[in-house]
Amino acid sequence: MTSNTTADVVIIGGGVMGMSAAYHLAGRGARVTVLEAEPMFGTGSTALNAGGFRHQFSTAVNIELSKQSLKMLARFEDEFEQPIGYNPCGYLFLLDSADDVAAFRTNVELQHAHGVMTEWLSPDDVARLAPQVNRDGIIAATFCDRDGLVDPNGILQGYVRGASRAGATLRSGVRVTGARVRGGVIEALHTPAGDVTGGTFLLAAGPWSGEVGRLIGVDVPVVPIRRQIAVTAPIPGLTKSFPFVIDFAQSLYFHYEGGAILTGMSNHDEKPAFNTSVDEAWRERHIEAAVNRLPMLGESELAHEWAGLYEVTPDDQAIIGRLPQLKNLFACTGFSGHGLMHGPSAGLAVAEEILDGAAHTVDIGPLRWREFGAGEYNVV
Ligand SMILES: Cc1cc2nc3c(=O)[nH]c(=O)nc-3n(C[C@H](O)[C@H](O)[C@H](O)COP(=O)(O)OP(=O)(O)OC[C@H]3O[C@@H](n4cnc5c(N)ncnc54)[C@H](O)[C@@H]3O)c2cc1C
Repeated sequence: MTSNTTADVVIIGGGVMGMSAAYHLAGRGARVTVLEAEPMFGTGSTALNAGGFRHQFSTAVNIELSKQSLKMLARFEDEFEQPIGYNPCGYLFLLDSADDVAAFRTNVELQHAHGVMTEWLSPDDVARLAPQVNRDGIIAATFCDRDGLVDPNGILQGYVRGASRAGATLRSGVRVTGARVRGGVIEALHTPAGDVTGGTFLLAAGPWSGEVGRLIGVDVPVVPIRRQIAVTAPIPGLTKSFPFVIDFAQSLYFHYEGGAILTGMSNHDEKPAFNTSVDEAWRERHIEAAVNRLPMLGESELAHEWAGLYEVTPDDQAIIGRLPQLKNLFACTGFSGHGLMHGPSAGLAVAEEILDGAAHTVDIGPLRWREFGAGEYNVV
């Protein structure tokens, strides 16, 4: 088998994380190679998400990653000559229990401490902001007008172009199948196109990160969890300012999507699996809940639906930085449902971890490798 590339950094996975990291590494002068299994870049989770962008998190590190990403997205169109359809429609969280209100009080205080001025809304305020929403059972809501929507494909294409211009070698249709490891160091990755050598390796394989980890002999606790989306036919009168609404207790959400409504709802009983078929029974439950919360959906037709995979860790938090199992392996994965919005800042952070020894633009401390406990998920 031939050895066909020597790079400073070899990145496994050409989704938003791999491409953002490639752009930031190559922009600093590193010789970068990206290996993507599929014929095109960005056809994994990056192509299948809801396009949501928020600052409303319960941890400081995620708030800071969002703030940094938003700064980068604000100059994205000029930097990459690539529209990303940023729509600051805001995220509106609907709350229906005193326990959730109490938890959100803590979260909103934290957001304020980080300069994110999330507002508290009453049910009457919700009626003014989104009159189409059924407010039955809602006792309070939060709203942040810096949250909103972005075009996932625009971001991906911008980073593909930017990485390529910065000199990265981008190889699609090249699947990593294993690794040659000696003395705790990866010397090369095996692919059907030959071995790929490098100094440092970055695991950015999204929902496949656990599987790719196993191929190279490392236990990385990231599993694929199916999440489903439905999009209606266009709805007359709906405008872009309609907020991204989350019915928190039901894990139900909906937002404006090209004149229509895109909606999703998390099935907490979903077991880890590489399954992207649409679950028809779940669709029925989801649509029933969505029509109840947004009654105008009862009049609209379903135009399109799909399922994609979240890349989930046991604590629902990403893993960014060096992995302890091998001396030259890093990861940028496990974003558990918010990897598009954190793609810009996390790609920068892992580039700093690799080139500078530690991320310094954002303090990613809690997201570095930590003990996860064993056997929480079994992939079927
Ligand atoms: C339904 C749904 C809704 C979502 N909504 C949002 C949202 O509103 N906002 C948000 O921020 N995030 C959202 N997400 C999450 C977001 O899409 C992901 O966190 C993000 O796209 C992860 O990017 P990634 O580059 O890590 O993974 P991916 O885009 O999956 O990229 C990983 C790549 O690795 C490649 N790969 C796999 N195995 C190998 C191998 N052996 N060799 C080489 N390459 C390999 C894959 O082909 C793939 O292209 C959503 C996800 C889903 C599924």
